[in-house]
Amino acid sequence: MDVHPMDDVLRMDRIPHIWCPGCGIGTAVTAFAEGLKKAEIDLQKTCIVSGIGCTGRVAGYVKLDSFHTTHGRGIAFATGIQVANPDLKVIVFSGDGDIMSIGGNHFIHAARRNVNMLVICVNNFIYAMTGGQVAPTTPHAAYATTSPFGAVEPPFNIPYIADSSGAVYVARWTVLQVRRLTDSIAEALKKPGFSVIEVISPCAMYYSRINRLGDGLDMMKFYHDNTEIRHGEDTKNLDIGFQTKIIVGKFVDRERPTYMDSYNKWLSGTVKD
Ligand code: SF4
Repeated sequence: MDVHPMDDVLRMDRIPHIWCPGCGIGTAVTAFAEGLKKAEIDLQKTCIVSGIGCTGRVAGYVKLDSFHTTHGRGIAFATGIQVANPDLKVIVFSGDGDIMSIGGNHFIHAARRNVNMLVICVNNFIYAMTGGQVAPTTPHAAYATTSPFGAVEPPFNIPYIADSSGAVYVARWTVLQVRRLTDSIAEALKKPGFSVIEVISPCAMYYSRINRLGDGLDMMKFYHDNTEIRHGEDTKNLDIGFQTKIIVGKFVDRERPTYMDSYNKWLSGTVKD
């Protein structure tokens, strides 16, 4: 019998997945699976954590030690895993509604501490699974089921928050740039410390429909015509407006002691025996 090329990384027994036609999460997962292989890391020492939401389902489809945790708590959960067993590489793969709203506190403090983990945040600008409510990432003036006159609040700039909180690796790609996303994931997987990759992805069901943007393919065409790669761009300049140009690339790649490095150094200097 033929074996699927992703058979060693994906739980094929769980296919078909739950995502809608035109959704970008599947493409992000493909890039992740390829990135895992490309990084050539020990999958026996790699685990994945998700919170709740459409992207929060990812952990259940990947053939790693997987944890589907409570809403917004993926990073806190992953911090516990990492500190309990620093030999593990932990990936948090979840959505903007999960990581940047209820999980926002955990995000900034894990970045500040430089906990050794890779956060892949799929940003589709909306709370998708619960019906398309406005999210902290919804662009100004975009419609959501809870913003019938357009979102009035300014959205988060995820790379800027990650950078200013202390992340050592920060990148953003759309699901159109799948090879670059794959390479970025492979690179970040090998980097010690708190790495963040934002993945802009269409929610064809809620965000596109309420904003009359067409289907998933139309959103991919939009990314094609409206993304610009600017490696090293100052993260202050990475705001995303409603249907405005999206700057993508690798913005931050620096060195800082990880949380465990700092903790062990402090402990050996403070506690002698
Ligand atoms: S609701 Fe949106 S984000 Fe969720 S699976 Fe469907 S298209 Fe994807």
